[in-house]
Amino acid sequence: MSIQIPRGTQDILPGEVEKWQYVEEVAKTLCYNYQYKEIRTPIFEASELFTRGVGDTTDIVQKEMYMFEDRGGRSLALRPEGTASVVRSFVGNKMFGHPNQPTKLFYSGPMFRYERPQAGRYRQFVQFGVEALGSEDPAIDAEVISLAMGIYKKLGLTQLKLVINSLGDAGSRNAHREALINHFKPRIDEFCGDCQNRLEKNPLRILDCKKDRDHELMSTAPSILDYLNDESKQYFEKVQKHLSGMDVEFTVDPTLVRGLDYYNHTAFEIMSDAEGFGAITTLCGGGRYNGLVEMIGGPETPGIGFAFSIERLLSALEAEGVELPIEQGVECFIVSLGDDAKDYAVKLLHNLRAAGISSEKDYLDRKVKGQFKAADRYEAKYVAVIGDNELQENKINLKDMATGEQEEVSLDQLVDNVKSKLGK
Ligand code: ATP
Ligand code: MG
Repeated sequence: MSIQIPRGTQDILPGEVEKWQYVEEVAKTLCYNYQYKEIRTPIFEASELFTRGVGDTTDIVQKEMYMFEDRGGRSLALRPEGTASVVRSFVGNKMFGHPNQPTKLFYSGPMFRYERPQAGRYRQFVQFGVEALGSEDPAIDAEVISLAMGIYKKLGLTQLKLVINSLGDAGSRNAHREALINHFKPRIDEFCGDCQNRLEKNPLRILDCKKDRDHELMSTAPSILDYLNDESKQYFEKVQKHLSGMDVEFTVDPTLVRGLDYYNHTAFEIMSDAEGFGAITTLCGGGRYNGLVEMIGGPETPGIGFAFSIERLLSALEAEGVELPIEQGVECFIVSLGDDAKDYAVKLLHNLRAAGISSEKDYLDRKVKGQFKAADRYEAKYVAVIGDNELQENKINLKDMATGEQEEVSLDQLVDNVKSKLGK
């Protein structure tokens, strides 16, 4: 029996992989414009990093982590998200001591969660994320949000909805927490087991429950916005003012809470409104996590970031019918006729490639007609045709496949000729 691909994972094949490369490139380029630099961290970490850093009341830690013991008896986990690792590295490498602050980083790579696979939900998925550590200026919150929106817009998405909320500082959160406990406690037995556990540990997460979202107590739950103290209110207003100043449209949704335990102040999500995008509408989630660095053993350092998966981004692009400008065709295909010409084509192909021209030739001993067909399949821009006679006369026939025009070129000028035609 053949071996199946693991559930919730996918192969990204040639033809599709170019889309991934393209969107990752656009995202990276914009990050560099914003002065975020790439960081690469290991794919597995000590399990404790996530139990501490993501929080042990979260679904991720309770139900979704791929944990294993290595041969040395250490408990490790495949990373379920990127922030905890970035913060671990920030602390371990003492990045807080670098004169350039805030520390602005981005990452891109596979994450692993044991979830129920469905459209937009995989067990291995690629997250692209950014983190800005070391500043508590509301302008950084606005910058991070506008960067996420900027990536989506640059790629051509238009049916986007940005939703923001504030979870306030510790004082505001505690006051709200008490109010939530009082609100849910009398009828908590009508809620799922998870929510019952959340009541004392982290009642805010009840609002994020996918099972009980339609319970009447959900819509009447106390709003965090009524519990923000003056400082938190001013902070949130400043973030909104900066976003408006940058013409980034948003709506405030006081019920928006993010999955992770360590969020405070700004929380945001970007959703797709596109028809056909599917039941899961969230493309990107992010927020501020001022206590996290300390929790992971570093000095008190504020932070904010976001993450989105490339899988959901590509589905949104598809749902909106955005065509990515991906060139897959070969620039020059060599057709040869005769033994000497066939041998010469090997060397010529090498020279074309060395000059930066993407090129191909036949390797299956096809007849001339078959070679031309192959050139078509490769969407060749130019086809260079050489036979033994031409070889002796030191020339080659060059055909422009778009116009059908042909010309004879001296052999030693072919590479330069093709190069200048391609504007290289
Ligand atoms: P959801 O509520 O959809 O489970 P989440 O709160 O678990 O999302 P985060 O942990 O904040 O999501 O991750 C941020 C982003 O990563 C999501 O907005 C989504 O784009 C992506 N993402 C999360 N889980 C998956 C998954 N299993 N498959 C594909 N993408 C995912
Ligand atoms: Mg999830």
